[in-house]
Amino acid sequence: MSAARTSPPARLDVKRIREDFPILERTVHGRPLVYLDNAATSQKPRAVIEAEARYYAEENANIHRGVHWLSEKATASYEAAREKVRAFLNAASVHEIVFVRGATEAVNLVASSFGKNHVRSGDEILVTGLEHHSNLVPWQMLCAETGARLVAAPIDDSGDVPLEEIVSRISERTKLVAVAHVSNALGTVLPVREIVDTAHARGVPVLIDGAQAVPHRAVDVRALGCDFYVFSGHKVYGPTGVGILYGREALLDAMPPWQGGGDMIASVTLEKSTWNVLPYKFEAGTPNIAGGIGLGAALDYVSAIGLDRIEAHEAALLEIGTGLLRSVAGVRLVGTAPEKAGVLSFLLDGVHAHDVGTILDQEGIAIRTGHHCAQPVMDRFGIPATARASLGVYNTAEELEALAQGIRRVAEVFA
Ligand code: PLP
Repeated sequence: MSAARTSPPARLDVKRIREDFPILERTVHGRPLVYLDNAATSQKPRAVIEAEARYYAEENANIHRGVHWLSEKATASYEAAREKVRAFLNAASVHEIVFVRGATEAVNLVASSFGKNHVRSGDEILVTGLEHHSNLVPWQMLCAETGARLVAAPIDDSGDVPLEEIVSRISERTKLVAVAHVSNALGTVLPVREIVDTAHARGVPVLIDGAQAVPHRAVDVRALGCDFYVFSGHKVYGPTGVGILYGREALLDAMPPWQGGGDMIASVTLEKSTWNVLPYKFEAGTPNIAGGIGLGAALDYVSAIGLDRIEAHEAALLEIGTGLLRSVAGVRLVGTAPEKAGVLSFLLDGVHAHDVGTILDQEGIAIRTGHHCAQPVMDRFGIPATARASLGVYNTAEELEALAQGIRRVAEVFA
């Protein structure tokens, strides 16, 4: 994605960036917080916290329907945030940017609405074995409803899904390819551009789950050529409860509404209703106005730093972290694909992942343990859970050293 770069991006001033995140000043169990659970949710910079607070303090009103000053102000701020998302993804039009609750809701919207129009008994939806449950269960539900079949391209031993495994499963029955851009459990980066090109060559649309990509690398939906792209605000340093469905206008236009209610209609009689234009056709009810505005502030924040620089910083940290974890006796990394983002999933010999997480927590180190909402990944590796450290823009090599030291101490406790 940053292939067009001609010179290496300038290094980040991480010390300065850390000052933007008030929570990083706090201690946990009397120790400085080492926050390495960014794949679950990232921390919020002051700019995001203040944008939400400012909206409530100075502009709070319902949007789109009001003629009064505050409502117009709130509407303008909310729609300005939509334009920020459009620019961030390089979408062609704000008609293609639908505010939703998060990546999960976006996939459910497409499964339900696109599914209704396009998927019949005997059809196939193609996913991969590394999908988050949010890009799996909605398709399973659609298949159960329609009699379609879910086909999954398998993961190899490194946690990669080779392109041929995906391509060879696209058939004339495939109605949609739905794949993660970056795996939350393994860190694997899938070759989404090539997947889109191959699927399109066979006339099959592609949805990309970008929940773990958008915070860590520049995404250009027009360069990718994808049909749908989904992500959550809270993983890209924005608020919870807001996310984005990008859809190509022609596709969204042809799709029926998902939820019915206020704002998504053009007219209503007791007998029937007609639908609003895009993107409002998919935005029933009062949205998360403050969340949308906060998301706009988050995208401004990461854009000002530069996604290329964030990607380079996290790639350097991933290399350091991989080396450090490999140096700890008894640690096995799960997920070693050649193309990886900042996720370190690991096992410690003879110690349950939950114990690793609980003991590290006592040292102020926050990691995640469990199946990471990707149980099929755990099944593939024959394990119940992993411990997972996941990186963000404010993480440092010192924090990874603290993690490695912490794991050594866990190993000693269980020796
Ligand atoms: N997809 C991936 C790859 C994720 O990592 C996650 C969350 O961890 C989701 C989808 C779901 O995101 P949300 O719970 O914000 O809807």
